[in-house]
Amino acid sequence: MKYIIMDLEWNGSGTDQGYFNEIIEIGAVALDDNMTVSGEFQSFVSPKFTRKLRGRIKELTHISNDDLKKAPGFLTAFRQFRAWLGDGDNCMLSWGNSDIQVLYENLKRYDMLDEIYAIRHYCDAQLMCQMAMDIPLTKQVGLSAFAELAGVEIGDDPLHRAITDSRLTAKCVTKVFRPACFEALVRKADREFYERMNFKSYCLQDLGDEMIHPCDLMTVCPECGHYMKRISGYVYRNKKHYATYRCKFCKITYHVAHTFRVTYDGLEHKAVCNRVEPSVEPASDNVKQIPQVVGDA
Ligand SMILES: [Zn+2]
Repeated sequence: MKYIIMDLEWNGSGTDQGYFNEIIEIGAVALDDNMTVSGEFQSFVSPKFTRKLRGRIKELTHISNDDLKKAPGFLTAFRQFRAWLGDGDNCMLSWGNSDIQVLYENLKRYDMLDEIYAIRHYCDAQLMCQMAMDIPLTKQVGLSAFAELAGVEIGDDPLHRAITDSRLTAKCVTKVFRPACFEALVRKADREFYERMNFKSYCLQDLGDEMIHPCDLMTVCPECGHYMKRISGYVYRNKKHYATYRCKFCKITYHVAHTFRVTYDGLEHKAVCNRVEPSVEPASDNVKQIPQVVGDA
């Protein structure tokens, strides 16, 4: 399988069809089966919708409006990239998933979304490299920071240019590549892959929503496992539905925070119980009970 390490630069700005991250440079490095560089692609892209480069983009990428004036438009640049990519099996890797998202967004804007299926598989190079180096995936390590960690020489070419960043990503990928990490993260880049990628998960604010089953709101006591009785109404705050519940067996009261998150795979329900008062044990015989003070764990 051919590995395509891709990096894009884009100029984000408002257009009459909403905010758009318009590609201004495509850079890519091809690696063969043995992870040896077998080719490179670079093209600037003359923007059509966002025109002037934002100051921050100019500063960050060192791409000037002049560079782009001479450049082909997206249609031509992408066709060249597509021809360079070829028709065989391949796997695209990029540092984080924003490049593939932006490519999707641009192809969609030009009504050529079918072209995205020239990419057969996708693997997030950042996740793979972090996994290979045992860096928790919850941490976000930038490309140059990772290169330093991995002992990959950064070189003198300016970073934040599509071609230099794809070369550096390729060096990081080949340096730390572990087949098991790649296998764990590689995905078939089919329709479902993009649907999942573009799905924006959200929290339900209406407890009457048909996705919520009344049973979801029945909460069991963390101590004894019996259903508790709800003794307050619901308050919605910070994407959570709060209510107070009481277990009649343990005589313990809890604040319960319900979260209902709609994800690509369906509804996720989480209920977190926080004990709010010490248990009052029934006094037995002549032993005086000292109430236990329990914090909001
Ligand atoms: Zn209980």
